[in-house]
Amino acid sequence: MRIAVLSDVHANLAALEAVLGHAQSQGVIDAVWCLGDVVGYGPQPRECIARVRELGALTVAGNHDRAGTGKMGTAEFNPDAARAAHWTMGQLTPDEQSYLDALPEVLFEGEFTLVHGTLRWPIWEYLYSYEAARAHLERQQSPFSLVGHTHVPMLVLEGAEFPQGCEMYYLEDGTKVKLSRERRMVINPGGVGQPRDGDPRAAYAIFDTEDETITLHRVEYDIAATQRLMEAARLPRWLIERLALGR
Ligand code: ZN
Repeated sequence: MRIAVLSDVHANLAALEAVLGHAQSQGVIDAVWCLGDVVGYGPQPRECIARVRELGALTVAGNHDRAGTGKMGTAEFNPDAARAAHWTMGQLTPDEQSYLDALPEVLFEGEFTLVHGTLRWPIWEYLYSYEAARAHLERQQSPFSLVGHTHVPMLVLEGAEFPQGCEMYYLEDGTKVKLSRERRMVINPGGVGQPRDGDPRAAYAIFDTEDETITLHRVEYDIAATQRLMEAARLPRWLIERLALGR
């Protein structure tokens, strides 16, 4: 089976379609796993929810999915993110809001745990620091976990030989990670709809269950098309500009 692993679509339909097209151009996609933040920041929350539902994607909730329905307040959001969350709330139908509100914070699928942030604070915590990585790994019951939220592709390996108890590696386009049950592993496929590692191309990963590998991919998409829709929706300037910068 080939499973497309997506995170942080952020209402960017052009980016979502680009990664799905890329994934399908290489063979059949049997399933889609989505690590949260389907909405927020971007101009097409309804279209992205519809697409994710149509794909039957196994999806966990992100902070923007909660804020975009009002289920969670925006006090901890920066002003641009809060504005975009309020705009999103005004777009969604009650049915779409119910869909987002029903998304679980953590999902278990085979040998994988799926969560947006970390297993310590599923919706909110960024898995950036060694401390957060250790706290996450301590709570990880399965050999492998998949996280999003940082919008940066990353591999975390647990290991007593590392001074910090684990080590973190940035994943470049084309990097293939071989799964191993000798140590717990965490993979972040990067962000589809708002990459933040300086590379504006959409990021996602393919899990090949036969090879037992996860491969990171970067895909170009029509950034200007998404930016035009954001202009028309009067979304905050910085949110429009950052797409072209990958920040
Ligand atoms: Zn996000």
